[in-house]
Amino acid sequence: MTTVSPKANAPSEQVAWHSLSVAEVRSRLDAGQPLGAAEVSRRTQEHGPNRLPEPVRHGPLARLGRQLKNFLIHVLVVAALITALLGHWMDTVVILAVVVIQTLVGFLQEGKAEQALAAIRHMLAPQATVLRKDGRHTIPAEELVPGDTLLLEPGDRVPADVRLEQVHGLQVDEAILTGESMAVDKAVAGESPDAALGDQRSMAFAGTMVTIGTGRGVVVRTGPHTEIGRISGLLGQTETLKTPLLAQIDRFARYLSGLIIVAGVLIFLAGTWFSGLATDELFMAVVGLTVAAIPEGLPAILTITLAIGVRRMANRKAVVRRMPVIETLGAVSVICSDKTGTLTRNEMTVTAVMAGGERFEVTGTGYSPDGGVTGAEGQPVSPALEELARAGALCNDAHLRLQEKPVRVAGDPMEGALKVLALKVDNDLADVDRQWPRKDEIPFDADYRFMATLNHDHHGHAMVYLKGAPEQVLAMCSGDLAPDGGTVELDADGWQRRIDAMAAEGLRVLAFARLPVAAGTTSVSIDDVREGLQLLGVAGFMDPPRSEAITAIEECHRAGIRVKMITGDHARTAGAIATRLGLRAPDRVLTGADLDRVSDEDLVKLAAEVDVFARTSPEHKLRLVRALQTGQGVVAMTGDGVNDAPALKRADVGIAMGVKGSEAAREAASVVLLDDNFASIAAAVREGRTVYDNLRKGIAFLLPINGGESVSLIVALLLGLTLPITALQILWVNMVSSVVLAMTLAFEPTEGGVMTRPPRPRAQSLLEGFVVWRVLVVSLLFLAGIFAAWNWGMQRTGDLEYARTMAVNSLVAMEVFYLFAVRYLDTPSITLRGVVGTPLVLGALVAVVVLQSLFTWLPPFNEAFGSTAMDWAGLVFTFMAGVTVLLALELETWCRRRLWPLASGQQDLG
Ligand code: ATP
Repeated sequence: MTTVSPKANAPSEQVAWHSLSVAEVRSRLDAGQPLGAAEVSRRTQEHGPNRLPEPVRHGPLARLGRQLKNFLIHVLVVAALITALLGHWMDTVVILAVVVIQTLVGFLQEGKAEQALAAIRHMLAPQATVLRKDGRHTIPAEELVPGDTLLLEPGDRVPADVRLEQVHGLQVDEAILTGESMAVDKAVAGESPDAALGDQRSMAFAGTMVTIGTGRGVVVRTGPHTEIGRISGLLGQTETLKTPLLAQIDRFARYLSGLIIVAGVLIFLAGTWFSGLATDELFMAVVGLTVAAIPEGLPAILTITLAIGVRRMANRKAVVRRMPVIETLGAVSVICSDKTGTLTRNEMTVTAVMAGGERFEVTGTGYSPDGGVTGAEGQPVSPALEELARAGALCNDAHLRLQEKPVRVAGDPMEGALKVLALKVDNDLADVDRQWPRKDEIPFDADYRFMATLNHDHHGHAMVYLKGAPEQVLAMCSGDLAPDGGTVELDADGWQRRIDAMAAEGLRVLAFARLPVAAGTTSVSIDDVREGLQLLGVAGFMDPPRSEAITAIEECHRAGIRVKMITGDHARTAGAIATRLGLRAPDRVLTGADLDRVSDEDLVKLAAEVDVFARTSPEHKLRLVRALQTGQGVVAMTGDGVNDAPALKRADVGIAMGVKGSEAAREAASVVLLDDNFASIAAAVREGRTVYDNLRKGIAFLLPINGGESVSLIVALLLGLTLPITALQILWVNMVSSVVLAMTLAFEPTEGGVMTRPPRPRAQSLLEGFVVWRVLVVSLLFLAGIFAAWNWGMQRTGDLEYARTMAVNSLVAMEVFYLFAVRYLDTPSITLRGVVGTPLVLGALVAVVVLQSLFTWLPPFNEAFGSTAMDWAGLVFTFMAGVTVLLALELETWCRRRLWPLASGQQDLG
């Protein structure tokens, strides 16, 4: 073994790979054959993983620094300075302590959100298809090493720098490297050593995107040594948790803060004129007002809620790529889904074949070659059937892993099933590849729906084998095969009837054809196969619906979400599968050709009515998304191919398939499904609705606390009364007790009825309607509670400290009880389930009781906050204040549901 390869990847050596012949490249890299496992691990040791250095993420210090940019922190620091100047040391210490706590809490919360994002970033690691010694594998792109044999398909992002050795119509978009927006044709022949990057047609560079065609090549440079690695870590992308909602809340908080500061200054100035308070007292009152009114905890709670939502969705196999989509998911009203693999299992088995005018039934399950083929009248395998099976095995890129139990397929499951069929027809077909080596191919493309290969036998005979969508193939044929293998004139109508009958059974139908060509022919193009082919017959594939998809579709229907199937398959197959899946209108099927005849205006109505679209192309998907959106739908659309990208981008929620989807689709999508399963989409919608509910709950919980407190202070100041709660006490309530309680809302589990109500309207904002109403009502309840407690305390003891302790404890008690009410915004909360709460809620309850006990009974706290011990009567009053809030809200919910069932927009579907 030579030792050239390590140097070949070293940054110092600039090998002009594009100018070397493929043989030379392979010999330089010591990779004459596909690599074995031991060699791969040796090379990994030497060259490191095929990964660009992580973009510099903000470290903990930067995160800490960001907390200090908070407006409230600035207010507090100024307040601390002024209290220190005034000699109120205790106030200074408490305010500074609060600054520290607030910074730490923000720091930890942001860390938690970042952690959730980092975890999902890892889940979307790109994949690569390689040929290794033991066959074809799909591996994480990170595991590629120089010398690996890489396979490229449309939609792949090239994972390393590759010297191409085989191309079939391969075009690559190199804009990321060269800025050239037109895709570039690739070739195998080398160029001159000084060719510019954009002219190196024999190379495919890491980070560029395959637009059409297929290719094979040798990896020559990996990780930081690739062209893209050298110019920077361009590919690294940082996602932040910025969503329109968070931006809106941030703006709201900033606007409110500005307003409050102005109001504070005015009150301070006016207060020095006509309130009886001393300047320092007045100053503290204004600080209290500022702290009371600014919803400082809100952005953090909402961020956490979104991050938790992202993590939960990832646990349900739906990985969010673009954060704003979490808000949209809950509003989805139409889901357009692919059929194969998403609604069905994509575990294909050929169950019937028509060849030579006869129908054969195929037995056996899965990819096991056990089973057989028999004619309808028990006749044995015919030469026509054998030829069809041979075509299926040759015009095929899949690989069967027969040694594994159960047998698995590497590659397209449908092609795997064809290899199994070949084995069932005749065991000798196992090494048909060796007898008929492939010379050239026309790769499958969803636009023309067929694939062809040119094969030679050892006598130099050449044959083009072709398989594809039956109507497509039929149109290219002029003859078909008799049972004995002779050619007869094509009976197109007869075949069409047989194909329709097979498709109506729910089978996916594929046709096979051949074209004998002159011996020695070495290439085949689309023009060569337009006509004159001999039809070999058709095969019917069983691809059962996923049982979990049937349940999920039912769930979506209950939730007012319409499910539509958009497939490239035959109309009858699509209709039959739609019936089994339980779609609303499975009998009306529109094909791509039908869609082409409909105007955009008519499509709006039609798209809403029809649930099954067959033989569609990616352009149809785009038109359908537009039509559904015009009809006010919030549309989720799935896709896997490179051409699906525009529809995925246009949809409100673009969903790419993580397993069979191309990198291009994944990058265009806002959600990637790790298991390609429809049920995961339904689960993501459910989580989306939960997140939205929890955001509403967070807002409905936190804002009234600010509202109640600030209005109490303003009322007291305006009426010239003593403040019922001091500035420091407000700091305590907001920064300690409320934060502990509100945090639990981010983790609230899904409410029972979340998937039995209609989707929320697209334009509904969180800060309108019901939530605003709730904030007002609860603010007033809190206001009344604070004054009642203070008054009661004063009447009873005449002790201001006691009265204020009463006010603070009553406020916290009301918050605790309100927390139980807010967990079920629209349904009665006094249920066993509601009272028991989640372990987290109970934990928070215990924590708050402990904290308030410290506040009330521990002397250092008494001294710091001006609080004092409470007696039994005080405790009972406090408790009753909380109970009153709960009962009042229960009554309010009841009235709302009874009197204005439409007011909340969240009632159950009748
Ligand atoms: P869906 O859009 O639901 O995933 P699909 O897999 O049938 O359905 P396409 O992949 O666009 O959609 O395929 C369209 C048609 O092209 C198929 O119904 C089949 O007739 C044909 N086809 C698919 N794959 C191949 C292939 N590898 N070789 C030849 N023909 C194929």
